Amino acid sequence: MNLEIPYKSIINDLHDGLYFVDSKRVITFWNKAAEQISGFKVQEVIGSLCSDNILTHVDCSGNSLCHNSCPLSKTMVSGNPHSDEIYMHHKDGHRIPVSVRVSALHDNFGKIIGGVELFTDISNQAVNELRVKELEKMALLDGLTQLANRNYMEKELQVRFEEYKRFNIPFGIFYIDIDNFKQFNDTYGHNIGDKVLKFVADTLVKNARPFDLYGRWGGEEFVGLIRNISRSDLESLGNRVRMLIENSYIIHENNKLSVTISIGATLVSENDTMDELIKRADTLLYKSKDRGRNCLTID
Ligand code: GH3
Ligand code: MG
Ligand code: MG
Repeated sequence: MNLEIPYKSIINDLHDGLYFVDSKRVITFWNKAAEQISGFKVQEVIGSLCSDNILTHVDCSGNSLCHNSCPLSKTMVSGNPHSDEIYMHHKDGHRIPVSVRVSALHDNFGKIIGGVELFTDISNQAVNELRVKELEKMALLDGLTQLANRNYMEKELQVRFEEYKRFNIPFGIFYIDIDNFKQFNDTYGHNIGDKVLKFVADTLVKNARPFDLYGRWGGEEFVGLIRNISRSDLESLGNRVRMLIENSYIIHENNKLSVTISIGATLVSENDTMDELIKRADTLLYKSKDRGRNCLTID
């Protein structure tokens, strides 16, 4: 089949697979999408019969369509276009569900001289790709608050440690814990508690500097990773966050519901390990709890 430019390039760039066969069902044209969907390169198929272990279509019951019910050969006898959903063989071995549309090709005298099959991948490939992305996100993202999860925060902490050791860029952390949250849940229920966790998270994120990062460490505990900051700025930033949370609220049955947080704040120091840094911040947090909560303790 001689295709004149620009049809050839248009056909080549279709998202649908397209191939032509001659009257003997020998493949004469195979577009790029056909390569992509089937895994067979053009040079592997041109000149072959489509039944030569190439496409070997089967129907939904697993019946081979190549010899008696090939949609293409039926159309090439009757001249009637036909469409169907079938399963195509992929070079890598698996089956791909495809929707096929077949038509006969006629010469100038109306004689059938071949056929054309257009096929569309109807597998859930797009959905699967999305799912993988979602999973990737889920592995690093906390589902409830949409904050970075602990896994992600630990990775980030490693990066900050490297940065500190190589370039001497300091960073600090906040260990944040919601005050009396068990009591809150017991009073208003877990669902309202979840809403609180969300707004606490949103207040943290929306008020973070672009290079700082807040994550959910677990339960009602959050960690803030604050880059390139002095001790006094860390203290005032933490107190601002604490004040913003204190002033965040939801309305529930005409009541304003809010919570407070306690914070342990500390800067990285020379011989720290990640565990030591976190432990120190955690100890400072408990000092804040002892001091009556809704406060920040720094060292
Ligand atoms: P403290 O001020 O000492 O931190 O008291 P607290 O009650 O906040 O501390 P405690 O550790 O006793 O309780 C933590 C509570 O946080 C208990 C748990 O039900 C609640 N919590 C943890 N994760 C979630 C969650 O995902 N959703 C909700 N709604 N509550 C949670
Ligand atoms: Mg806690
Ligand atoms: Mg708590």
